[in-house]
Amino acid sequence: MRMKFIYGRRELLSGIVPSYTDPEACIRQIGELQKQIPSLYALLSVNACALAFTHYPLAPAWLTVGLPGAMIGLCVVRATHWWHLRPQSISGEEAVKRLRGTSLLTVLFSALFVGWAMKLTSYGGPFEQGHVAIFVAITVIACIFCLTHLPAAALVVTIIVMGSFLIHCFTSGNSVFIAIALNTAFVTVVMVRILTNNFLAFLQLLESKAEAQRLGEENQRLAHTDSLTGLPNRRYFFQRLDALIAASATGNAAFALAIFDLDRFKPINDTFGHTAGDRVLEETGRRLSAFAADGVTIARLGGDEFGVLIHAADRTADAVELCNRICTALHAPISLGETQVVPGCSGGLALYPSAGRAADALFDRADYALYHSKERKRGTTTLFSQEHEDAIRAERAVEAALQSADLAAEMEMHYQPILDTVTDRITTVEALARWTSPKLGRVPPDRFIAVAERCGMIHSVTLLLLRKALADAARLPDDIGLSFNLSSHDLASPETVIAILAAVRQSGLDPRRITLELTETALMRDFEGAQKAITLLRALGIKIALDDFGTGYSSLNYVHRLPLDRIKIDRGFMADVESDLGRSVVITILDLCQNLGLDGIAEGIETTEQLSAVRRHGCRYVQGYLIGVPMPMTDLLGGLRGAAQAEPVSA
Ligand code: C2E
Ligand code: CA
Ligand code: CA
Repeated sequence: MRMKFIYGRRELLSGIVPSYTDPEACIRQIGELQKQIPSLYALLSVNACALAFTHYPLAPAWLTVGLPGAMIGLCVVRATHWWHLRPQSISGEEAVKRLRGTSLLTVLFSALFVGWAMKLTSYGGPFEQGHVAIFVAITVIACIFCLTHLPAAALVVTIIVMGSFLIHCFTSGNSVFIAIALNTAFVTVVMVRILTNNFLAFLQLLESKAEAQRLGEENQRLAHTDSLTGLPNRRYFFQRLDALIAASATGNAAFALAIFDLDRFKPINDTFGHTAGDRVLEETGRRLSAFAADGVTIARLGGDEFGVLIHAADRTADAVELCNRICTALHAPISLGETQVVPGCSGGLALYPSAGRAADALFDRADYALYHSKERKRGTTTLFSQEHEDAIRAERAVEAALQSADLAAEMEMHYQPILDTVTDRITTVEALARWTSPKLGRVPPDRFIAVAERCGMIHSVTLLLLRKALADAARLPDDIGLSFNLSSHDLASPETVIAILAAVRQSGLDPRRITLELTETALMRDFEGAQKAITLLRALGIKIALDDFGTGYSSLNYVHRLPLDRIKIDRGFMADVESDLGRSVVITILDLCQNLGLDGIAEGIETTEQLSAVRRHGCRYVQGYLIGVPMPMTDLLGGLRGAAQAEPVSA
């Protein structure tokens, strides 16, 4: 809060009773005065005692005992009052009142003490009169010192005491007393001036402290705010999370942590540009802030990721319901000029303390649940459960086994044939990784590939598998190609792309016989990077296939904008290829392939009915258990030799 001070320079010098406009500053003044006022009263009492003592035999008792006794009594009462004062606990208005009261009391005390001293001059000789002069001079100087933080009162003392003293000395006509009075008056004026300057410096100090505090608070606010959305940022989120954990630790009070991630932010950013991306984030921030309330903290964690803390989550259903409402709010379209986009959003929710007690553990659990939503149920929020906890444990076991594995010895490639139904010949074999861990036994490839991606081993795993596949492919007849699966992380890494090119070159295999299979996830990760890598690979003659087509979430936009050679229709569609719906999906994809001049490959053909259905719809290439299961290269070569002699597979 910015302070306005009670005195301007002019006001300070001219006004006896100042205007107390800033209660905050008044409290600080009281604090400073409290340190000095008890000393002031002690000093007044001691000086009065000394003066009363020297005049005791000369003046009447009421002047040397009664009146000074009463005055000292008053001093003791006031000193005790100030002694017990607690400036921190008094209110602003009270401080203002007290300062006013103190200034007024100064008038009373000054008049009383100086009146008493002047009265005593009529008793005793020159020594006693000299004592009175010294009493007035030192007492007024001491008072001015003690009232540094209340200059108005210091001024009152100076005017009343020095005024009376000067008048008294001049009327006495005694040149020694006139000289003493003039001298003392001069000293006090200089002192009041010094005091005024000191007080102004005190006010400036208070002001700069207040300014520094204000700037500090502003900096703190900015350091905790995300500049694009205006929401609290990641730092603030984790500070709140730590505070919630500390507050909940003793009572085990439940709270919830949720993470939300936009489903289609990347494609929107890639397609419409960064300004549009920023607009989407701003609008997302605006919608999310509508959910921020007393017990709900919402922050932007970075990129298109947002965090929510639900402070009291005794009822899990309520937390889930809030998260689902957030997902729904983010599913409403956002308009970007003439177009509208629907970024959509998925969430992951973890509860304290069941999902974890430490900030990292809780955040990781919510992140895991989010990942689950993205994989299985986009657009919704997944609540982290025991089932997920078990999956994490199993994944950790795979990770540990993978890290300690002798990959070259434990991994091998199996090959599954792809058939050209027109010529009834095998055109390509797809390499599928097989890992037999001494600790865990057989681990399915999709599982260990996902773990390798997550623990940063995918680069070395991909290259090891590719080298094995390329070596095996050297044994294939020249008219059969090799299809190899890339992880979604591979294309995003220029080092991996360069290493792939080097491995192909080293193998001596004609690059035109190689197909690299990518999933839509690889493209969504970094569209521009993927586009560059694909162009580079194709320049060498390598073919590119889009794998598992139809399961992704990206628009057909990708297919149009990418230089592809093949599309593999996901095996999920084969189960009902004979039904109306399945048929229409397969036909649509095959039409698309035809329009774009791409080869369509139907995956997962298990029955002759499926085979004849896809062939009827115009699908030339097929793959599946019916044609051949994945097998070691030696078995495959044996099969090829046998097939050359036997009848070809046909519907
Ligand atoms: P994918 O690329 O879609 O591979 C086809 C999967 O379908 C293989 O599973 C294959 O055994 C299975 N499959 C083939 N025909 C049929 C069928 O008629 N019916 C059924 N139900 N399934 C069939 P697999 O070998 O378990 O591989 C699973 C996934 O793991 C692959 O899916 C691929 O995404 C990944 N993967 C496998 N090997 C590699 C690899 O070397 N590198 C990378 N990055 N991923 C790999
Ligand atoms: Ca594949
Ligand atoms: Ca596939």
